[in-house]
Amino acid sequence: KLLDTLLVPPPKVSLSAAQEIAKQHFGLDASCKFLGGERDCNFLVTTAGGNFVLKVANPSEPDELLEMQCRALQHIQEQDPDLPVAKLIQPANGRDWARHTTGTVSLRVRLYEYLPGVALDWVPLDPLLMQNLGQTLARLDLAMRSFFHPGAGHALAWNTQVIDQLQSLASHIRDARERELAESVIDRFKSFVKPRLAACRAQVIHNDVSYHNSVVDPQHAVEISGIFDFGDMVYAPLVQEIATTAAEIGAISNDPLSRAAEIIAGYHSITPLEDLEFNLLPNLISARLVLSILIESWSRDETHWQDDRDFLPEWRNRVISALELIEDTGQEEFENLIRSTCGVMPELAAGDPGSPDALQRRNQYLGNASYISYDIPVHLARGQGAWLYDSAGKAYLDVYNNVPHAGHCHPRIVSAIARQTATLNTNTRYLYDVINDYAQRLTDTLPDGLDTCFFVSSGSEANDLAWRLATAVTGNSGGLVLENAYHGITEAVYHLSPEGGEFDTEPGHIAWINAPDDYRGPWKRDDPGRGEKYADYCQDAIQRLAGKGHHPAALYIDMIMSSSGIFSPAPGYLEHLFADVRKAGGLCVADEVQSGFGRTGEQMWGFQAGDVVPDIVTFGKPIAGGYPMGLVVTTREIARKFGAKHAFFSTTGGNPVACAAALAMLEVIEDEGLVENARNVGTKLATELRSLSDRHSLIGDVRGSGLFIGVELVSDRDSLQPASEETHRIVNDLRENQVLVGIDGPHHNVLKIRPPMVFSESHVDILVARLDQALSR
Ligand code: PMP
Repeated sequence: KLLDTLLVPPPKVSLSAAQEIAKQHFGLDASCKFLGGERDCNFLVTTAGGNFVLKVANPSEPDELLEMQCRALQHIQEQDPDLPVAKLIQPANGRDWARHTTGTVSLRVRLYEYLPGVALDWVPLDPLLMQNLGQTLARLDLAMRSFFHPGAGHALAWNTQVIDQLQSLASHIRDARERELAESVIDRFKSFVKPRLAACRAQVIHNDVSYHNSVVDPQHAVEISGIFDFGDMVYAPLVQEIATTAAEIGAISNDPLSRAAEIIAGYHSITPLEDLEFNLLPNLISARLVLSILIESWSRDETHWQDDRDFLPEWRNRVISALELIEDTGQEEFENLIRSTCGVMPELAAGDPGSPDALQRRNQYLGNASYISYDIPVHLARGQGAWLYDSAGKAYLDVYNNVPHAGHCHPRIVSAIARQTATLNTNTRYLYDVINDYAQRLTDTLPDGLDTCFFVSSGSEANDLAWRLATAVTGNSGGLVLENAYHGITEAVYHLSPEGGEFDTEPGHIAWINAPDDYRGPWKRDDPGRGEKYADYCQDAIQRLAGKGHHPAALYIDMIMSSSGIFSPAPGYLEHLFADVRKAGGLCVADEVQSGFGRTGEQMWGFQAGDVVPDIVTFGKPIAGGYPMGLVVTTREIARKFGAKHAFFSTTGGNPVACAAALAMLEVIEDEGLVENARNVGTKLATELRSLSDRHSLIGDVRGSGLFIGVELVSDRDSLQPASEETHRIVNDLRENQVLVGIDGPHHNVLKIRPPMVFSESHVDILVARLDQALSR
């Protein structure tokens, strides 16, 4: 029954017949042009006095429904006269429509005012336009709130709330993968959405404000200048209205999720959404997209008069990829995006309540040497995307953790781990493909020559092994690191890690190089030669080493110099540093544990900030999204010299599960454009943080790159007195206000902003607003 009206083709009316209708019933001397239409036959009517739209109704459409549309338009115009809906023009008979009879055929014809504008798929879908669209939609629904008509309960296929009744149409979807996707969305609709719809507010809604049925003002391209075609109007949950527009418009954009969220935010700014509506939106959006695929697939098989719609394959691909994107993102993360774009913090039902004596028990069993963040530690229960949730269900925006590089619990990484761990986990004494696949894919991102991998299980272990490689290959025993550097916890690497101030002086075989701090140091950021000048400190360190009887085996450098206070290498810095170390017989180790995998937004690896190729690169933290893994990559020659004296084996290093997780991470970085995201979102983040510094004198400096930003706080901008105490308070204040930020730098006065790489512009807005408030307090 739902499909009955779709089985009747639009009436066939020639251009000359349309002209005749315009003349006879509306007194217009007009020329006519066909417009598209699924059920009606529509014409653009041009006269000397202006344009109109002539609609010849589908014979299967009951009078009652035509009448409902006419009454609704009238009602809307009375309630909100400024809304851009087309006025109905009365025919000579003084009614809503005329009957035009030729022979035995009687057609119902209506004439509308023409609304000028261009279709939404012809203009850039920028956030402002999306917001305006959402607001216009909200106004339309407000105007219709008090409208009712008995026709509104009609049987309609284009009605998402009854998609479960159309599930059998999935058999018309030819591609098996697409069919499976559609089925799973409908299953979720049945189990999750349908039972909750009854609790949603409902009214008569337009139900199809899509790019077919709305136009924008071409002058400004941010205002909606027309909404038409009320043919899908139905009594339904209000949230279905929003989901329909968000789905239809989102799907034709390059960023369906963000555009959908912006439309919803516009709507929410006029009619605030209820918690349940936020909850249902992601699934309803998916359901609407599936509904359009179902009907399109069915009508391709069943309604042969529609075979001239050549725009369909492209549209279909877009709908499918929008659906896949929502699936990959996950309903909860999409909901969080929507909520945060609306400025509403996610709420979760209380999860695992956690034990109230967790801190006390931790102290009992872990002792006091294990560091924990915040005056009041956060007791976490779960994570999703850029969000963490505590044991009471409270959400925290994660602006600190880089290990969940692709976002907490990214479904592709979770399933890669689950699949591999359920299939095989073993070690490198045996052959398996995933380690080779990964090694190939990773080394493809590195400069030629860096082609030999040693798999371990942590960043510290990678740096430790790099030390053994360097000492074995060079025969030297000295280490060069930046003052305040951190490279890990093993005995060897601990000596390469002055951070923490545990060494009053340099250990015997180590020399510290003054950090290239272009905020506090002698050469500032406006000095284009500062890179080379700071690199000269390396000479002093090499001489000090020589004075202690050591030549350098290796220089280690964290490519974002995090513990030094977060600095990107200045032009020329790495080039000069590496040249000096190599002249003294040492190897150059790029520690990419923090700076790697596109974190800096410029390129995949931090060392690519300079024109250098390291001898050894070490990786950890985000490499496998939290599954323990570390990696050393070096040249064939260095590996060969080491191998001549030592055999290498690590039991868990490079196990298949770690490799599967790491491979999924590389795929996600590429498929989701995370490097580009770090660049774009990072640029906005830095800009907004800098503009905060106009109002807050505590902010001395904003620096870093991509999604690794340091905000140095000073109590005096002339003396640069570190505001360490304030930094501590601000970070704890942010934690109280559901934003997690860290602290770094030798004076503990640099806000460390290093979120998961899926951080979005709306996350930036939340962070900046909360930091603004914290600074004010
Ligand atoms: N190098 C750098 C630059 C790091 O930041 C860290 C961890 N903070 C490490 C090495 C050590 O990594 P892990 O803690 O995984 O051993």
